[in-house]
Amino acid sequence: MTSIHLENLEKSFGAFQALKTMDLKIADGEFMALLGPSGCGKSTTMNMIAGMERPTGGRILFDGRDMIDVPMGRRGVGFVFQNYAIFTHMTVRDNLAFGLKMRRLPAADINRRVKQMAEFLQLTELLDKPSAKLSVNILQRLAIGRSAIVEPAIFLLDEPLSNVDAAFRAVMRTELKHLQRQFRQTMVYVTHDQLEAMTMADRIAVMDHGVLQQVGTPLEVYNHPANLFVANFIGAPGMNLIRGSVTEESDEIRVDLGQLGLSPALPQGLAAALRRRKRGDVWFGFRPEQVSIDRTGSGISLPVLFVERIGARTTLHFGAERTLAKAVIDNGEGIEAGKMAPVALASEGVRLFDAETGMAIG
Ligand code: ATP
Repeated sequence: MTSIHLENLEKSFGAFQALKTMDLKIADGEFMALLGPSGCGKSTTMNMIAGMERPTGGRILFDGRDMIDVPMGRRGVGFVFQNYAIFTHMTVRDNLAFGLKMRRLPAADINRRVKQMAEFLQLTELLDKPSAKLSVNILQRLAIGRSAIVEPAIFLLDEPLSNVDAAFRAVMRTELKHLQRQFRQTMVYVTHDQLEAMTMADRIAVMDHGVLQQVGTPLEVYNHPANLFVANFIGAPGMNLIRGSVTEESDEIRVDLGQLGLSPALPQGLAAALRRRKRGDVWFGFRPEQVSIDRTGSGISLPVLFVERIGARTTLHFGAERTLAKAVIDNGEGIEAGKMAPVALASEGVRLFDAETGMAIG
């Protein structure tokens, strides 16, 4: 196991800054996801950790040791890409054994480890099949096994599941997590898919436009997004964000959400944080699951624009011509588009963001 410190890491391609001063510490044996939209600099960061790209600023430390001049092959790093790198002229067994043979391990050890990895990844029955005959799904599983079998101290995976089908992706999410638990490697996992990051990672580094936006556990980034970008990017659907103005009536701070006709009181901590800053507009954020249908009839009613029933859960879009807010509820019975629905908003979990800076308040 090895810890990684990206110390004020930077990368420019000519005048274009693909990564702007990133400082990130990844602990021994930690599963860190680099998550962000296409082009945000995830692969560039990963390529620098692997030694395929040279940083234009900052340092990369493994267990405190500077890696800048250490070539890729000497960094003790395993790498799996989006496109499986498998020798299709070899059998599954030979592909798994390849890295171990290169390291000149005794044949008995190689056989034992190949058998163990094949069992772990459910490839045992395919061991003597030529790889050329395998499906894309199985090839990617084999690519992961081939890199993992040499037990690199650091395991880097760049969108390894983006070419496999949805059902297989779900299976592989569990298997990869299991693999990392078994071998306790330090894992860095690049993805634009928040579900992958949320389900597998110990912590997530959220990136946008070459800037590290927030680092935290999946629940931290979900419940306490550091800024508007993270609030909107994390969650499916993302956090509802409505611009509002702050009003104070009889000592109670409220945010007036004109378009929605709501004027909710704030939880104490947030109200106190608002009092401490200068007045101004804010973005009022709440998760779709904080909205419930108020069947007591005492809540306010909002117009329903669309209803999406997805199995046990229903997503409601509120608004007149465009969606102003979404709700995810368990029981959508009787709720119809074009009609009003009585709603209640749980104030716990409400977040506020500065309208000028986009940063979380409180
Ligand atoms: P994706 O998921 O689409 O690969 P990403 O977050 O991994 O996105 P990067 O591949 O790291 O993004 O690219 C970040 C930015 O740097 C992009 O705008 C990309 O066009 C640019 N970039 C990457 N490599 C080079 C290069 N060799 N020369 C010039 N620009 C590059």
